[in-house]
Amino acid sequence: MKILTLGVLLAVCASLAAGETTGGQAVEPSFNPARAMQYTRQVVGFGTRPIGSANHKKLESYILAHLKGVEIAEDAFTAETPEGKFPVRNLIAKFPGSKDGIIVIAGHYDTNYPLRNTGYVGANDGASSTAILLELANQLRGKKRDGYSVWLVWTDAEEAVKQWSAADSLYGTRHLADLWQKDGTLKRIKALIVEDMIADADLNIEHEMGSTPWLEALIFQAATELGYQSHFFARSISVEDDHLPFVQKGVPSADMIDLDYGYNDVFHHTPQDTLDKISAKSLEISGKVIMKVIELLDHDVRPTVKD
Ligand SMILES: [Zn+2]
Repeated sequence: MKILTLGVLLAVCASLAAGETTGGQAVEPSFNPARAMQYTRQVVGFGTRPIGSANHKKLESYILAHLKGVEIAEDAFTAETPEGKFPVRNLIAKFPGSKDGIIVIAGHYDTNYPLRNTGYVGANDGASSTAILLELANQLRGKKRDGYSVWLVWTDAEEAVKQWSAADSLYGTRHLADLWQKDGTLKRIKALIVEDMIADADLNIEHEMGSTPWLEALIFQAATELGYQSHFFARSISVEDDHLPFVQKGVPSADMIDLDYGYNDVFHHTPQDTLDKISAKSLEISGKVIMKVIELLDHDVRPTVKD
């Protein structure tokens, strides 16, 4: 993804600091951080995983092997890039609910392409997003959902192959957003949340200014209800990420991202993006907040946001 601008803290956060609650008994969402960390370790173990690589292929099989018994859909196509043609494959796991509508949680599983020969493994940028979705799948599978359907999407080809631009980036989600527009899925999406770089040991999820304001406010509400608000929204930034193609099509969408990875973001897109920089605790915070957001969405909680 690419950072566009830095902004100041918005009224959104301040006005929600008190946090309306859902009124019910607060129940800690279920999420197994040790298992999520283990998945992250295993994904990193495949080595660098850029599109078109053998390791990428192995990772696709690994993800699917963890989803046995779950309804899976695929969006596979060939992307034309400045480095030639590549197979791209978005993987979608569907957990049906009782209510009409879909909550989408998405994160990319490919790793940076230009760094493919540097030993780059993307522990935070690629592996953590893959792993958190696998653990969310564990929490959702085999349970009757009294709420909206939840679709988990392992997005592909998020990374640029040469240099980030509108044409060289987000290959997977641009294709998926078009597909879902054509088949009518987009209209059924209540909310779409992208998680990216969510395992930094020093976790500071930003307020992303291109995201849908009420959904950002809902993320902050969920974090506040769980006591994690100090890890959220200390700064506001504008980021191009996998949520963008959906924002552009009017889907309520948000990007959960910590784009300050190491002092001055020094570990981001470098071979230093390794397991020692991330933590199970951060996976837990991100994972539980997502579970809480799903619960709030199921109850149709929608914070009012001042402009
Ligand atoms: Zn990246």
